[in-house]
Amino acid sequence: MTKILAITNQKGGVGKTTTGVNLAASLAVAHQRVLLVDIDPQGNATMGSGVDKRMLAATVYHVLLGGKRIGEVRQRSENGGYDLIPANRDLAGAEVEMVELERREKRLKEALAETAHDYDFILIDCPPALNLLTVNGLTAAHAVMIPMQCEYYALEGLSDLVQTIKKVRAHLNPGLEIEGLLRTMYDPRNTLARQVSAQLLEHFGDKVYRTVIPRNVRLAEAPSFGVPALKFDKDSKGAQAYLALAGEMLNRAATG
Ligand code: ATP
Ligand code: MG
Repeated sequence: MTKILAITNQKGGVGKTTTGVNLAASLAVAHQRVLLVDIDPQGNATMGSGVDKRMLAATVYHVLLGGKRIGEVRQRSENGGYDLIPANRDLAGAEVEMVELERREKRLKEALAETAHDYDFILIDCPPALNLLTVNGLTAAHAVMIPMQCEYYALEGLSDLVQTIKKVRAHLNPGLEIEGLLRTMYDPRNTLARQVSAQLLEHFGDKVYRTVIPRNVRLAEAPSFGVPALKFDKDSKGAQAYLALAGEMLNRAATG
């Protein structure tokens, strides 16, 4: 069965896109059929997948607002081994344009329905906001993956996100679950990071992935070459961590 995951955190720069790109590539290495959907006007997941966001005739914008089908805008990330629905600045105006539309929260869900069976995993890289684009991601998804840095304000931001997830569950997507919280850019030498990490485990227990993503410069360098870290430096700690995360997810799915 296809698993659709929204990678969400309204806080900027916590590693959503890095997770989207590297997890997609890692799942692909594990012979999973993966679609990565970029719904952020920044188009970072698009560039990080090796697709030039400035050169695109059609993007996710045209799926949400232009009546195009997924198959008409889909690109292949040759470097990543997965398919991509790209985004760029065109999407910046989409929110305002969508407000007028009926079923505006369900546009992405309805578009993905026809292609869902082609994939084992669909990962949605959300923008850093709890806006209508993110609500589209949450409405289309079976579950939410929340990357977070273990910093002081992280827990506070988490409660806003949990509230939004509850609202989406109540009004739009009753089955929406929290798939897991992912500790990113983790530095075990940092006392505060260890404390926040312990609090997370206390509050969310099994919802916290055992795999931790370390701070690793290879993960930050790879996007400028349009490749996942796996293709850039397979032995780097960052690439290995995302492979481990893919393994943990597949194990969880297999054992229920
Ligand atoms: P935004 O909210 O703007 O969409 P984001 O949550 O998608 O940001 P990323 O773009 O993935 O976050 O990461 C933010 C920055 O941190 C990027 O420059 C990225 O290369 C870097 N980065 C992400 N994860 C790591 C890591 N584990 N180690 C080192 N650098 C990282
Ligand atoms: Mg991003």
